[in-house]
Amino acid sequence: MAKPLIGITTNQFLTEGGIMAGTKRQFVSDAYIQAVFSAGGVPVLLPIIVEQAVIVEQLAVVDGLLLSGGGDIQPQLFGEEPVRELGKVLPERDMHELELVRLALASGKPVLGICRGCQLLNVALGGSVTQHLAEATLQHDQQSPGDYAGHNVVLEKGSRLAGLWGNTVMTNSFHHQAINKAAPGLRITARAKDGVVEAVEHETAAFGVGVQWHPELMITKYPAMLKLFTAFVNTAYRK
Ligand code: MN
Repeated sequence: MAKPLIGITTNQFLTEGGIMAGTKRQFVSDAYIQAVFSAGGVPVLLPIIVEQAVIVEQLAVVDGLLLSGGGDIQPQLFGEEPVRELGKVLPERDMHELELVRLALASGKPVLGICRGCQLLNVALGGSVTQHLAEATLQHDQQSPGDYAGHNVVLEKGSRLAGLWGNTVMTNSFHHQAINKAAPGLRITARAKDGVVEAVEHETAAFGVGVQWHPELMITKYPAMLKLFTAFVNTAYRK
């Protein structure tokens, strides 16, 4: 059986210093690539392009979709005006990823959303995001390195994630936003102890999971985090 191709969505930035200053670049953190590779998949980067016909072809060549982390989603996409604390938004990326999610779910391909990707999956299906976690009592924007597990997450009994890790799992935390209202068809299956939503699972898709933390940064120190990627990649195997 051929290894499944896993599309990873990309981010964008302007190069600041050096002779290429001002050049727009698209990129993704190496940790996502290594996590997919370690789980048995073939990572394929999906650059941000907002032409429908091209997005259709991008999705057609991959067997699974990984929505990577990044900046904030435009609040207008879930019917809100921006609050003062909203970070930088990238409308082209929002449009690209919303279309990829729609196509992936329509064609039965597995979707894994990480951090922003978890929120994006929720917005794509009609849910909303808390634009800034002003009320959260725990530290969700940790200052420690990515492989440091800062807070506990309680997993819903019987969920896919509980099947991987049991009742609780320690996670890192690099977010100032989180899912507010879960979309129809998505079940909240994990929360931090202050109530902040940390994961959702699609109720009917073969695999539709979003996690608010960054498991890809934890794999070396916490090998159990690889289980999420393995479950995802295994669902993507081509018949
Ligand atoms: Mn958190």
